[in-house]
Amino acid sequence: HSFENFKLNKQLLDAVKEAGYTKPTPIQEKAIPLSLAGHDVLGIAQTGTGKTAAYILPILMKIKYAQGMLPRALILAPTRELVMQIEEAVIVFGKNTDLRFVSLYGGLGPKTQIEKLQKGVDIIISTPGRFLDLYRKGDIVTKEIKTMVLDEADKMLDMGFMPQIRSILEIIPTKRQNLLFSATFGQKVEKFSYEFLEFPERVEV
Ligand code: AMP
Repeated sequence: HSFENFKLNKQLLDAVKEAGYTKPTPIQEKAIPLSLAGHDVLGIAQTGTGKTAAYILPILMKIKYAQGMLPRALILAPTRELVMQIEEAVIVFGKNTDLRFVSLYGGLGPKTQIEKLQKGVDIIISTPGRFLDLYRKGDIVTKEIKTMVLDEADKMLDMGFMPQIRSILEIIPTKRQNLLFSATFGQKVEKFSYEFLEFPERVEV
């Protein structure tokens, strides 16, 4: 098993190699082909399993290159720390592409975040609260978003982000690919997954 077996382009395979990854982890093995095929994916995986690359690589492959001004993928995560880690992965795997991204989180003024949005981004990585704030102030146009990821969904629901996530689902196009990753799959996440995912493929490690 190797990354070359996935339908990823050379830019991405080179970046994977340069990151020092020699073979896919089990969650990557299962989730990458399903995401690349366009399925909604429900991934039950802890931190440390390689879940981030499992959804970042397919997104970078789907979006391919910078295009227009409007974001086409939205990744939501519960905390500023996780948003920053995900951004790091986008930097590492997107290094041979011209894709533009921004990470949005609270705790500091939104000025630089808004400036990046105004220059045009392909991918937004955000906490739910900051995303909604900026949307409501008119800084984010959602109509081109065709892929949405919820990372650490269990933590997001535990932290009380459900109302924000529901509001976000109301303002982004309904025709889209959804990926949900969660360390646990309790009642709350299960119930929410029915709302969020359409005929999902379930992968677990
Ligand atoms: P994650 O579960 O996404 O937080 O990843 C945990 C750590 O594993 C990160 O430091 C990744 O860089 C690393 N990692 C992910 N996938 C691989 C892989 N296929 N080979 C080697 N390291 C990996």
